[in-house]
Amino acid sequence: MKKLLPTSVVGSYAWPSWLHTGLAAAHRGEYGPVDTEELLNDAVDMAIRDQEDAGIDLISDGEMRRAGFFTAAFYGHLTGLEPLEPNRKVGAAGHDQQHRFKVVERISAPHGFGVVNEYLYARQRTTKPLKCLIPGPFTLAGRLTYGDGEVYGSREEAAWDFVPLVNAEIKALAEAGAEFVQLDEPSSAIHPNAEAAFSELFNAALKDVTGVTLAAHLCFGNYVGRPLSKRTYKPIFDEMMAFNVDQLLLEFANREMAEVELLTEVTQEKEVAVGVVDVKSYYIETAEDVAERIRTVLTAVPAEKLSLIPDCGFSETARWASRAKLHALTAGAALVRQQLMG
Ligand SMILES: [Zn+2]
Repeated sequence: MKKLLPTSVVGSYAWPSWLHTGLAAAHRGEYGPVDTEELLNDAVDMAIRDQEDAGIDLISDGEMRRAGFFTAAFYGHLTGLEPLEPNRKVGAAGHDQQHRFKVVERISAPHGFGVVNEYLYARQRTTKPLKCLIPGPFTLAGRLTYGDGEVYGSREEAAWDFVPLVNAEIKALAEAGAEFVQLDEPSSAIHPNAEAAFSELFNAALKDVTGVTLAAHLCFGNYVGRPLSKRTYKPIFDEMMAFNVDQLLLEFANREMAEVELLTEVTQEKEVAVGVVDVKSYYIETAEDVAERIRTVLTAVPAEKLSLIPDCGFSETARWASRAKLHALTAGAALVRQQLMG
């Protein structure tokens, strides 16, 4: 029988101290490729171990091979790009400090994005169900230059060139045996008024994919632990409902569970994974805090359609806090599960 109120993660996991210093050493040329590979393998093992310790049901590799959500390591697989300096380098941490890329010719990914190798390594390191993570085409296009005189005239045009690349990666994952693939498309919730056919782009990236459970994560941004948009799902609701996925993963804890009533309609068509742990706050939830949030969600959705997650990835949260929050998540879920089972 399917487990009631299963727990999962959005994807990225907190970096341990030694990953920061190790990557800095690698960047200075002090590591050979074998050293770097060992560093990243150990980081994945650590991320898996922390999730297993907490009793998370559906885990990830922590995206430890990607420097952040989808920065250098991910774009490093693409041709046609040159890195640009961030617009702002000092002062308070913010989204305007992210690296961007100048497009010098139409993009391609001759050897894929590396997600298949991420999966194959993680698969041999755990017996738990595992999810694979790929940013969606509109989100990927957000870090590229576009406009008058550029290779791409608009962000949507750039996004369409990501569609076949993402599609090929998902098919390769399915062939490699992946059971669950999640596309992260937060940019559609962050820029709901952008001129782009969100669901058309998204569904094109899933064309002819079979044999895997598909999911989409939409949040309001988490770079350096900060959102960057009006935090409401209402403007993007119809578009995200048109995404051809089995499950939507959505951010609620940081918004004090606002808009749970929208989930009633979501669960008429899809399963939903709801954020009941706030990755942006250093207040560590108790099991009872988490249980209370779950009970709020259950006023709007049937328990059989509900999974429980942190709001977003943990890449911007300290590891000690991430660990504690994973434990709070599973303990809170267990409390409510016990009550429901009587
Ligand atoms: Zn997110």
